[in-house]
Amino acid sequence: YNQQLQLSEKMEMISSLAASVAHEVRNPLQVTRGFLQLVAGRTDDKNKEYMGMAIEELDRASQIITEFLMFAKPQMDELIDLNISQELKQIEGIILPLATLHGGSVVLNIPQNLYIRGNSSKLKQAFMNIIKNSIEAFREDGQVNIWAYEQHGEIFIHIKDNGEGIDSSKLARLGEPYFSTKKKGTGLGLMVTFRIIEAMKGRIIFNSQKNVGTEVVIRFPSLTSF
Ligand code: ADP
Ligand code: MG
Repeated sequence: YNQQLQLSEKMEMISSLAASVAHEVRNPLQVTRGFLQLVAGRTDDKNKEYMGMAIEELDRASQIITEFLMFAKPQMDELIDLNISQELKQIEGIILPLATLHGGSVVLNIPQNLYIRGNSSKLKQAFMNIIKNSIEAFREDGQVNIWAYEQHGEIFIHIKDNGEGIDSSKLARLGEPYFSTKKKGTGLGLMVTFRIIEAMKGRIIFNSQKNVGTEVVIRFPSLTSF
């Protein structure tokens, strides 16, 4: 028992350390990117190509930080009562510019009175990774619809897009580390998401049709809190 306690304390230390490092490393990555771009603008063709490759690799490092640790907080994991509407509103604020950039939109429709128990930053990370995939799948007039309700003691959250969809042969591979169909994908987003949802006693399923769209359904045990 003693040893287990020590181990979980160590795990906490490692994860909070990882979160601080992620925050600290982000800035120098951006600064390095800026200087590389500057130099690329003043150099010959062959070196420009190398600069471009270096910038791509930096972007990849930033993306890994985003999908793993963007919302990680350098403090202990705390479990609190989470209001689904509030959590998703905050996500919306972060994700809207990305949707606009991809020529589409995000529509939220969440009642005020839905609560689950969990960790706010992790839940945000999980939703972020799912919604980001929807946006990256946009074709023309992309839209993500997000709605939620309570049923039989569970909170259901649906995230549905009209994007490119997923080949049925690939559905089973979602969440596998490094599985990605994107040119610059990390293949880590859903792995992180699945782990977070599992840790919060939730379930996630994907319904998708190629060239039609994808619907993700997530359920959590409901907290009746009034
Ligand atoms: P990445 O986004 O870096 O590729 P993810 O783990 O987030 O890694 O997703 C893995 C793969 O799942 C994606 O490459 C994509 O093929 C597929 N995918 C996930 N969500 C969607 C979606 N909403 N629409 C289309 N494909 C999706
Ligand atoms: Mg992704």
